[in-house]
Amino acid sequence: STFQELGLNDDLLRAITDLGFEKPSEVQEKAIPILLNSETDLVALAQTGTGKTAAFGFPMLAKIDVNSRTTQGLILSPTRELCLQITNEMKQYGKYCKGLNVVAIYGGSSITDQAREVKRGAQIIVATPGRMKDMISRRLVDISKIQYSVLDEADEMLNMGFKEDITDILSHTPEEKNTWLFSATMPREVATIAKKFMDNPQEITV
Ligand code: AMP
Repeated sequence: STFQELGLNDDLLRAITDLGFEKPSEVQEKAIPILLNSETDLVALAQTGTGKTAAFGFPMLAKIDVNSRTTQGLILSPTRELCLQITNEMKQYGKYCKGLNVVAIYGGSSITDQAREVKRGAQIIVATPGRMKDMISRRLVDISKIQYSVLDEADEMLNMGFKEDITDILSHTPEEKNTWLFSATMPREVATIAKKFMDNPQEITV
């Protein structure tokens, strides 16, 4: 199939053309129609390098309201490197979404600078759990209007001991949001998190 057939809008299709993506990868083909066309939770078993960032990124970009400055999408990832990589990809995918602001929040860099960026209005925040929790507790970020949350590399985040941070962060988000969990493996701890935070999730495997 083509990206157009998956139902992506013209702003996203133009960016995809610029990037030279010819056709959707398997995880994109499976996840994008589900996430675009329904308000559902999702558990996706997918390794890195499969195109999973775009699999959750395109639907999130399609669904958020860029005319509002409210933070609507939250992507949690295990490391600073991954956080920056996802942020960079989201900016490229959303380059024609006028008014879009994607902000990265991660440790080891100025919290004041990051808070300033958030304050300008970020529809999407890409964060590592520790710094995110810190900024929430200092009231430097408001995630009370989140509609879409992604737990990327959930197995890695749990391996790194972020379970309590994730629980704390998600407790500041609305009950009605959709959660999309991506993981390379499904150990019991990931299944437990999925059960705790998700409501009847659809499941895909690549
Ligand atoms: P990810 O698994 O999200 O880290 O993506 C791996 C790499 O594949 C990234 O550099 C993406 O830019 C690239 N990519 C994602 N989707 C596609 C696609 N449909 N066609 C070609 N490259 C892609």
